[in-house]
Amino acid sequence: TDAVVDPHPAATTALGGGFAPRSRLVVPVCPQGDRTYLLGLHRCRIERDWKEEDLELVQAIAERLAQIMTMLAIQTALAESEERFRATFEQAAVGICHIDHRGWFLKVNHKLCDILGYTEEELLAYSGLDLTHPSDRNALQNYFAQVKAGKGESSCLELRNIDKQGLTIWCNLTMAARKDAEGRFKYFIAVVEDISARKALQERDLRHRDALARASRISTIGEMSSAIAHEITQPLMAISTYVGGALQRLDNQSAKPDAREIELLRGVLLEISRLADRAGHIIDRIRNFSSQRSPKPQVIDLRKISCEAIGMVESEFKARRTEIDVDCPADLPPAIGDPIELEQVFVNLLLNGLEAMKETPVARRQLSVEITSVDANQIQVSVADRGVGFTAGEMMRVFDPFFTTKVGGTGLGLPVCRSILESYGGRIWAEPRPGGGAVFAFTLPGQAEDHIR
Ligand code: ADP
Repeated sequence: TDAVVDPHPAATTALGGGFAPRSRLVVPVCPQGDRTYLLGLHRCRIERDWKEEDLELVQAIAERLAQIMTMLAIQTALAESEERFRATFEQAAVGICHIDHRGWFLKVNHKLCDILGYTEEELLAYSGLDLTHPSDRNALQNYFAQVKAGKGESSCLELRNIDKQGLTIWCNLTMAARKDAEGRFKYFIAVVEDISARKALQERDLRHRDALARASRISTIGEMSSAIAHEITQPLMAISTYVGGALQRLDNQSAKPDAREIELLRGVLLEISRLADRAGHIIDRIRNFSSQRSPKPQVIDLRKISCEAIGMVESEFKARRTEIDVDCPADLPPAIGDPIELEQVFVNLLLNGLEAMKETPVARRQLSVEITSVDANQIQVSVADRGVGFTAGEMMRVFDPFFTTKVGGTGLGLPVCRSILESYGGRIWAEPRPGGGAVFAFTLPGQAEDHIR
């Protein structure tokens, strides 16, 4: 470059180190990524006639200087970036580690050591699989394979780790595969978040929800107690009558009973056994319905469940001279849910419909249950009555906990139905029925949706 026309004489004076140079030679020094500096020679005592070689020499020195300054700047930037990376890695609020293709830890940060309770040296002697709960190892191996194949980059995995004390720690794991310039796998980068507190809250919520659902089932049984008692008393009374009749016949026999008599008594005994089974079945159904158990999502047939529910409430409906009709296609696809919980949803809706039709003329006391498959992934159920219906304001509130218009009502039936259905990815709503009454409808994902809470 050419010699610079001195743009800042005041600045270049400083180049004289406090003296007053009488002649100067100044060239720019331009390190990359930095501002421009000036390098100058000066002569104070006399003016110097600078030669071309002087200029070339100073320019060569300026160029070398610029190279050195550029390298220094790069080194400083690298050191800063390395320091920033190290600080991010070490001080991150989540566990971070590098894992090799077999699952062994290559590098771990402090937080991961904290989460798992091991020192860095100890962790480096383990593989991620060693510290994973046996039931989650398959899922972790699948996740490794997916990420390595470039498929699981945007997914994460919730799994249980076992810490040094042997305690279970719920973690959320997010992994990415580090690859070289040719796209060959180098190692996994994994972010591990301790979600034990969230899991404990979720589990507590679930326990509360299950307890509430059970309490609501028991209260339903309580509401139906007189109809249930009637239903059980019927076969018991019949048994008693049959036994009385049979004993009388035996007492009246003077000689050994003949073959005809024995055949008749056999028929009576068979009938008694059938009636006893019926009473037993009613009791089993109630015991099942109110049992303390954790809900188990499984493949269910909603048609079968609706029949069970109708069986539960049948006596109540008979007592109130109310008809139920069910419309369900023969090829209804299966859904996912817990059978007892879904039976509870049906029972709640059926009893609510029945209750709403208390004042309806007997000829119109008809509850229509319709089960349809909306598409392969969704089944819809509607329960329509000809009861009192609701005002627009009531319709907005029927799913609010403790909202009730019934004397002695708890206002928990519908909120419990909603939480059951939502836990399986379904939803429930209410609407007025044209011609009078209410429709309560819900959807539930079909088996294809694979929604497991
Ligand atoms: P509860 O039966 O204890 O009142 P629910 O949560 O089952 O509790 O119902 C809440 C309220 O929703 C009922 O009190 C009633 O006002 C209204 N409701 C429920 N089902 C119907 C229905 N089929 N027709 C009209 N109103 C209904």
